[in-house]
Amino acid sequence: MNLIELQGVAKSFRAADGTARSVLELVDFHLADGEIVALLGKSGSGKSTLLRIMAGLIPADHGKVEYRQRPIYGPVAGIAMVFQSFALFPWLTVQQNVELGLEAQGVPAVERETRADAVLEMIGLAGFGGALPRELSGGMKQRVGIARALVTKPDILLMDEAFSALDVLTGETLRNDMLELWDGDQIPTKGILIVSHNIEEAVMMADRIIILASDPGRIRDEITIDLPRPRDADSVEVRALIDEVYGLMTQRPTQEATAGASATAHLGYRLPNTDISRIEAVLELLADPPFDGHADLPQLAEESELADEELFPTYEALGLMGLVQVDKGDIHLTALGRHYADADQARRQEIFGQQLLTHVPLAAHIRRNLESESTGTLSEKRFLELLEDFMDAVEAKRVLEVAIEWGRYGEVYGYDYHTGRLTLPDKSEI
Ligand code: ADP
Ligand code: MG
Repeated sequence: MNLIELQGVAKSFRAADGTARSVLELVDFHLADGEIVALLGKSGSGKSTLLRIMAGLIPADHGKVEYRQRPIYGPVAGIAMVFQSFALFPWLTVQQNVELGLEAQGVPAVERETRADAVLEMIGLAGFGGALPRELSGGMKQRVGIARALVTKPDILLMDEAFSALDVLTGETLRNDMLELWDGDQIPTKGILIVSHNIEEAVMMADRIIILASDPGRIRDEITIDLPRPRDADSVEVRALIDEVYGLMTQRPTQEATAGASATAHLGYRLPNTDISRIEAVLELLADPPFDGHADLPQLAEESELADEELFPTYEALGLMGLVQVDKGDIHLTALGRHYADADQARRQEIFGQQLLTHVPLAAHIRRNLESESTGTLSEKRFLELLEDFMDAVEAKRVLEVAIEWGRYGEVYGYDYHTGRLTLPDKSEI
């Protein structure tokens, strides 16, 4: 039996200029009775939007959205959501924060108190009912967030990066505590959907992993995991699955990168969210021993001590610039990448600039426009407006910032932070 079923779900948002931008397109999804499903995908691929649709917080534009075979029109009593940001009311005590959901359901005060007490004890917060959120550590705050969801005895729990804001160890402990409650049947919840950034977390928790593709969001891959829990993070089976998921996650970025470099120039391509120093650090790590130009992605991740959400955009950038190739869970330097790693600073910048002009249509577009101006300068505004045809204003700003940072490094154009104007490189020395 499916607890949640989505078919052909689409959602778009209006951009600042009033045009609709598609965020989700034709999403088919189900959450079956007894299942934990993990949803992975790049930032901006629509994961939170999908969760909010399932929670009844926002409507889909098209498609079927059902909870136990009934259409979801608004918030559903059986579905609870846990947010990454804790979302606690600072002026309410822990106890009051937890009771909040029950108040909305009209549960009498005495019962609210008993139930909140019981949940606080279950989640490891016994004795903290009277504390204010600011007196708690991040891990404990997130426990309150989870307690507030669990106290409603939800049929379904939707967790949106609930463990991401926590340090690794705290996140792991909380995750294991959740799994113990679930596997020990201590909570009435019948299905859990977690959105995660963290591949290992997904592999350790889920019965099924779903990977969302971006622009617009669609379900791209699905992996079923049959291993019993608790799982051993170091076991051969878990390592192999992590490898497999890494492979699936990186397949697309290279294709997207190649598409960005193809003749059908795509001005609205969302430059990956990373910076030059990280790009070069990862390149050097890959070039040096013990990798010597070839690495297994999970191993490189371990050595780099960077999080997946920092690494994936960096791989994408390196692939885009033709410095590496990513294939299934492996990464290797291209000949140009090797040359780059061995080059001095000036030569690196030169290569970077050439690759930028060849493979990033936005950078080439900026450069061409500057060249056709007699003054050789232009306000960044027009490029922001251009990008806003493809994405929302915040994302447009981020993408332009990346294009500016990369362009300055490659000496393709300059930028004056005081005036917000782009310039041809020879005029940029202020
Ligand atoms: P994810 O959770 O995968 O990072 P989101 O679902 O938060 O992605 O967002 C997907 C895209 O939809 C992003 O480009 C985001 O800017 C856009 N978006 C999300 N909510 C809104 C909104 N209320 N109005 C306009 N755009 C939105
Ligand atoms: Mg999100």
